[in-house]
Amino acid sequence: QSQEFSQVRIDYHGALLALQEHGTRMVCTGKMHTDRICRFDYLCYCTEAEEFVFFHSNASVMLPNLGPRRFQPALLDLSSVEDHNTQYFNFLELPAAALKFMPKPVFVPDVTLILNRFNPDNLMHIFHDDLLPIYYTMQQYSDLDDEARLVFMEGWGEGAHFDLYRLLSSKQPLLKEQLKTFGKLMCFTKSYVGLSKMTTWYQYGFVQPQGPKANILISGNEIRQFASFVMERLNITREEGDDYIVVFKRTTNRLILNEAELLLALAQEFQMRTVTVSLEEQSFDSIIQIISGATMLVSMHGAQMITSMFLPRGAAVVELFPYAINSEQYTPYKTLSSLPGMDLQYVAWRNTMEENTVTYPDRPWDQGGIVHLEKEEQESILASKEVPRHLCCRNPEWLFRIYQDTTVDIASFLDVLRETLKKPNLKKAKVASTIHPGRVREPKCQTSVQATNEAKLSVSWQIPWNLKYLKVKEVKYEVWIQEQGENTYMPYILPHQNYTFLENIKPFTTYLVWVRCIFNKNLLGPFADVLICKT
Ligand code: UDP
Repeated sequence: QSQEFSQVRIDYHGALLALQEHGTRMVCTGKMHTDRICRFDYLCYCTEAEEFVFFHSNASVMLPNLGPRRFQPALLDLSSVEDHNTQYFNFLELPAAALKFMPKPVFVPDVTLILNRFNPDNLMHIFHDDLLPIYYTMQQYSDLDDEARLVFMEGWGEGAHFDLYRLLSSKQPLLKEQLKTFGKLMCFTKSYVGLSKMTTWYQYGFVQPQGPKANILISGNEIRQFASFVMERLNITREEGDDYIVVFKRTTNRLILNEAELLLALAQEFQMRTVTVSLEEQSFDSIIQIISGATMLVSMHGAQMITSMFLPRGAAVVELFPYAINSEQYTPYKTLSSLPGMDLQYVAWRNTMEENTVTYPDRPWDQGGIVHLEKEEQESILASKEVPRHLCCRNPEWLFRIYQDTTVDIASFLDVLRETLKKPNLKKAKVASTIHPGRVREPKCQTSVQATNEAKLSVSWQIPWNLKYLKVKEVKYEVWIQEQGENTYMPYILPHQNYTFLENIKPFTTYLVWVRCIFNKNLLGPFADVLICKT
């Protein structure tokens, strides 16, 4: 391992001098610890103390310089999960002169991205919390290229899917544990610390019950580009052609008990071939290959459903929920399917028949067992027909219910599919445009007074500048008219570039008028500057 860095020729003496003279330099983006990413020259890490070190000299830079606020609560989040108190980053400070008394530093010549993985044993967390944020953080900083080094500081082992992290750069990612093997003091020549949270769409319920993030900033386009990148690196090409349904099963818990019956029903209903896959029985690569050509993915709620991001546009995602679980309250995969431009059809089915569920009260608590609880609590869990809203992560009623096995009631299952799925749309979804209109140009108003209680207000404008380059199915305009001083307004949707308003227009009154363009019913443009129109 320690051979690895010496292959790259670095001028050790020069690097040591630079560190001693210039110390550490840090410049960050972000106003808060939750949106901060920092770039460092010569950030060091002491493997004995397990602390990052900032060396002060006359030439060192620390921006932002927060003083003691750096500890309230931290400089930044090291994982993409917002403000999690086990995922904070900070450094210790030392004068550069202290280097004389310290072990000789080992320099890491690669541009390095330093971060925490959040839960590298769970496929959903791997994609949502780590791979997508790493991929797009690397896109944000151009020197984080294919030669970049990833360093994972959360302290876990490789985990079940370490190969996926290897796809992100040509260099082997390093784990915290491995840093020791390089020496007592490591200095990263150039590094970035922290992850972009721009791509995440779900919060896991640490402070409020889990659900979609309040301000989602990613669209299906970025998810699909990331998915294409992964497929390219895995040498997978999407095979189009024949239609088939994939049932993604779990084999150790949360089972579908009548799998054969479910497969038969799906095949008959949709007149399609069905395939089953599981993480235990197929390689990850072959699963992605299969899913990338599927028309429908059916699965019990669970981390394996993150693979729905590899489905072709227009495909259906069918998520099954065990008894007493409200599907509306656990929506990471629904939210993913519903991202704008993701173009997946989402359906949830929920077991409502208690006789069709199999519970496991005797299992360990983390697999949903409840026998360790007080008798009363056990009884109340058993009597409950729906898990009440709760916080992450150890709610015993939630764990008890989510780890049940289920016999899927075929009649009610097919009912929700028939209700929700638009058959002709399966896999044939057209790529909807996401191009927004520009402002309407040259907005004008003209007014005239007809009588003491009658006035006219004519508004006209020119088409947005970008419209002449676009083929848009439906172009409409929205006009808001507000009487000055009132706090309500009248909205109108209009097909043409001018309109004369007669109703509700009073003489000798000032109106504020806003105009904007709308493409295809829901692509809103910006309002033009407000018009002030006096009758
Ligand atoms: N897993 C699996 N088969 C199983 C049970 C779990 O492949 O029978 C995988 C699952 O997809 C996830 C990891 O093991 O990647 C942890 O599963 P867990 O039940 O803890 O999490 P969940 O799926 O509920 O997010």
